[in-house]
Amino acid sequence: SRHGLPARHVTARVAPLGSRLVLALVEDRTRERRVEAVRRDFVANVSHELKTPVGAIRLLAEAVNDAAEDPEAVKRFAGRMLTESDRLSRLVQQVIELSRLQGDDPLEAPMPVSVDDVIAVAVDTSAIDADSKRISIVTGGVTGLEVFGSEEQVTAAVANLVANAVSYSDSDSTVLVTTKADEGNVEISVVDQGIGIPEREIDRIFERFYRVDPARHRSTGGTGLGLSIVKHVAATHGGDVRVWSVEGQGSTFTLTLPRRNQEAGR
Ligand code: ADP
Repeated sequence: SRHGLPARHVTARVAPLGSRLVLALVEDRTRERRVEAVRRDFVANVSHELKTPVGAIRLLAEAVNDAAEDPEAVKRFAGRMLTESDRLSRLVQQVIELSRLQGDDPLEAPMPVSVDDVIAVAVDTSAIDADSKRISIVTGGVTGLEVFGSEEQVTAAVANLVANAVSYSDSDSTVLVTTKADEGNVEISVVDQGIGIPEREIDRIFERFYRVDPARHRSTGGTGLGLSIVKHVAATHGGDVRVWSVEGQGSTFTLTLPRRNQEAGR
């Protein structure tokens, strides 16, 4: 294009266009700008979030250095360095997952996915955390179901829901993972008896980096990205995710995904 403008933009000015087409082109540009703004925002947020653990690790390394004579203190600081670096690697991992999900081809090679396998792996991922709080994770519902898509993504989504259910529940409670299906869809629900979510926050929890109680999150090691990953996985698979919650009583997250259509072979 002559003026370094996108070709589409030039066409909009030289071609004899109906007003509807002009409007569509303007909307297209507006959408592009919005996408660009969201991306800039994301990068700014990621950089900010990375600074916290990196800064903490640096300070702790200095503290270890200064406390060389005091083995007890060295041990304490080293322990905290471990916690912070775990948090850092979880954050990096989730940022990678999320940017792949937001890319051009989030579902590269869709395959039949066993919902039983997904749940088994997802539950396993939280087993240690659940054990240490004496939380039992119970599974139930329909078995043998299949969806069509990415096993890795669906597993990550369900694992995030189970991990949240465990981290936002008190000790000695139960987390239930249950499945049901109709002709078109599979529903995977994760039910907890935990702290719940205040009604005024419920619309925001799927936003990137949004946390109901950031102070609490530092201790649980949350990143604020888990639910936005779940939301994107639902979207790339043509499904959705919904939440019901009563503060102080618990939450239910339901991931709905299109059921694999065996006749159509997909
Ligand atoms: P995080 O890494 O902080 O858990 P998420 O994106 O997974 O980030 O969740 C966003 C916020 O939603 C959490 O910080 C928490 O406040 C709230 N939340 C998510 N799941 C639950 C749950 N099962 N019970 C109560 N609150 C929850």
